[in-house]
Amino acid sequence: MLFNSGEAGMKAIRLHGPGDARWEEVDCPPLDPDRVLVRVKAASICATDVELYDGVMVYLTSGLARYPLIPGHEWSGEVVEAGAHATAFHPGDRVVGECSIGCRQCVLCRRGAYHLCRDRCETGLLGQQGAFAEYISFPRFFLHHCRDLGFEDAACIEPTGVAVHAVRRTRVTPADNVVVMGAGPIGLFAVQVARAYGARTVIAVDRRPARLRAARELGADAAIDATGDDLIHAVGDLTGGLMASVVIEATGNRQVWDSLASMLAPGARVGMLGLCGGSRCAVDFDPLVVKDISVFGCLGGPGLWEEAISLHQRGLVRSRGIVTHRLPLSEFSGGVEIARSQANGAIKVVLQP
Ligand SMILES: [Zn+2]
Ligand SMILES: [Zn+2]
Repeated sequence: MLFNSGEAGMKAIRLHGPGDARWEEVDCPPLDPDRVLVRVKAASICATDVELYDGVMVYLTSGLARYPLIPGHEWSGEVVEAGAHATAFHPGDRVVGECSIGCRQCVLCRRGAYHLCRDRCETGLLGQQGAFAEYISFPRFFLHHCRDLGFEDAACIEPTGVAVHAVRRTRVTPADNVVVMGAGPIGLFAVQVARAYGARTVIAVDRRPARLRAARELGADAAIDATGDDLIHAVGDLTGGLMASVVIEATGNRQVWDSLASMLAPGARVGMLGLCGGSRCAVDFDPLVVKDISVFGCLGGPGLWEEAISLHQRGLVRSRGIVTHRLPLSEFSGGVEIARSQANGAIKVVLQP
């Protein structure tokens, strides 16, 4: 019970302020009967982590979250010790933990919308230590077995779940022509999930050559350069004139709305994943009304973790080609710079012990 004592220490990345990330000794997280102590084996850097590092993440600017904090919500690891009630977990098990941790008691939690729980914790953000650390103590209710999945793939279950949520919200079927705006990590997972759901055509749109290439390699029928090509004509050509019956918006760039309306087929569904950082955009609502368009906000991947794990296990979704850089856990700041600059075609950076 070395770790239960709370006396043992561990190393973790702790953010003390904007641009101030320290790999330092902290207390090992305490284990209670409903928690599982996990040795972190892979943790990937998300755009949210870059915002936390820069001090611009909305939870920080609104005062909801505070420094110092240990970030990291896309992770996997190996069980070291399970609390007395966590009988489903045993030392050596490979696990992944969710980002949203609901109270399990409110009406939202009880109908499965725990990602909207008002009292929720969020891993690496609110009330739950993040995974850029040697160990993480995690509530058993939000921990999943990832069986024989590699740790790097398992660290990508969180963004995969987000993509599954968007594909389900927009009800993608084999009849659909799907356009994914933005071929960042989430967009590249959305391309693969739409493919796995049997979409007739999957078209990725981005401006960065490395990401367009990755989209093609990961199964997109076409990858369109938003800068050079005539986007609307290209979507028309690729869909036999039908246009997009589903658009998954994963850029957070408000200018996307300028081209969106003319890209949509009548009755189309739009899944919104990207956040615009508070910047407003003028939307012409008339085409949305006239074409009977549905727009869905998509947050997290509630209840979809087992599905995301299965998609990876069955090889329908992979992280190879998305994870481009690997660094030691202690080199968080360097990883953030690579993720930010996208140097050498960087898409996703994974940190490992
Ligand atoms: Zn993330
Ligand atoms: Zn709740």
